Amino acid sequence: MKIRNHLLYHDTGERASWNETPNKRGNLVEKKPAFIVIHYTGGSTVESAVSTFKNRNSQTSAHLVIGKDGSTVQMARFHERCWHAGRSEWQGTRNLNSYSVGIELVNWGWLMGEPGHWRSWAGTPVEDEGVVRMAHKYDGQLRGWEAYSPEQMQTTIDIVRALLQHYQLSPEAIVGHDDISPGRKQDPGPAFPMVRFRNMLMSRMDDRVDEPIESDTTHHETVFSVTAVSGLNLRTGPGIDTAVVKTLRRDTQLIRLEAEGKWWLVSELVNGQADTTGWVYSHWLTPLRP
Ligand SMILES: [Zn+2]
Repeated sequence: MKIRNHLLYHDTGERASWNETPNKRGNLVEKKPAFIVIHYTGGSTVESAVSTFKNRNSQTSAHLVIGKDGSTVQMARFHERCWHAGRSEWQGTRNLNSYSVGIELVNWGWLMGEPGHWRSWAGTPVEDEGVVRMAHKYDGQLRGWEAYSPEQMQTTIDIVRALLQHYQLSPEAIVGHDDISPGRKQDPGPAFPMVRFRNMLMSRMDDRVDEPIESDTTHHETVFSVTAVSGLNLRTGPGIDTAVVKTLRRDTQLIRLEAEGKWWLVSELVNGQADTTGWVYSHWLTPLRP
């Protein structure tokens, strides 16, 4: 990918698909981006996102929409001011619309339901293979999120690399909407491997990516959930004669570290990370996933 005159071109010299949004006004400060903001669309197709950004009433837009198959539509020149960030702040800069390029990845975001029965907010079924179970960094809820496809990630990295090179930005300039509008926005969410994404661009600015990058997952060990309605005591040792550290409420999620018969040493999961550790009676646990 290359950029000329604030427009995106494929390596073949062909211009990327263009469908201009009316939802933009003026130019970015200094007529060039200082940040790149990553979003998800909350939908399932490029067409639905483009149609939203073409609709004046939506009052929203982005410079780029990237589909699950890597297909890309540019909707504004990269020096123009689109409406994707809303109320936002990053490292002392407010209102990122005036300083950034917005990239929307087609993705449902968080899902309702459970394995075998995932659904988008719109009720659309989503297959298990397309789902990662993770907690967002801003809430402790382990939830299903639609995964970003390898093709989509590869295209995104190609385009972001071109943007960084053309506008002389460092990978630190890449932020999530959830970074700049914490609490208000959840996109691109934990399924987007932001740290790895930045690192890949940091270490190999000039190289092509040989391996597709896929979403990070927190861990592969089995996660268990507390089934006891009145909660389950987390203890200092394996037996009821030991002190209670805390009572884990029903549906608390934890991982097993070791076992002594029916007594297990576990760590409570908070934001997907191991937190308090102690012993529980395993009868009141059920596995959440294999
Ligand atoms: Zn967003």
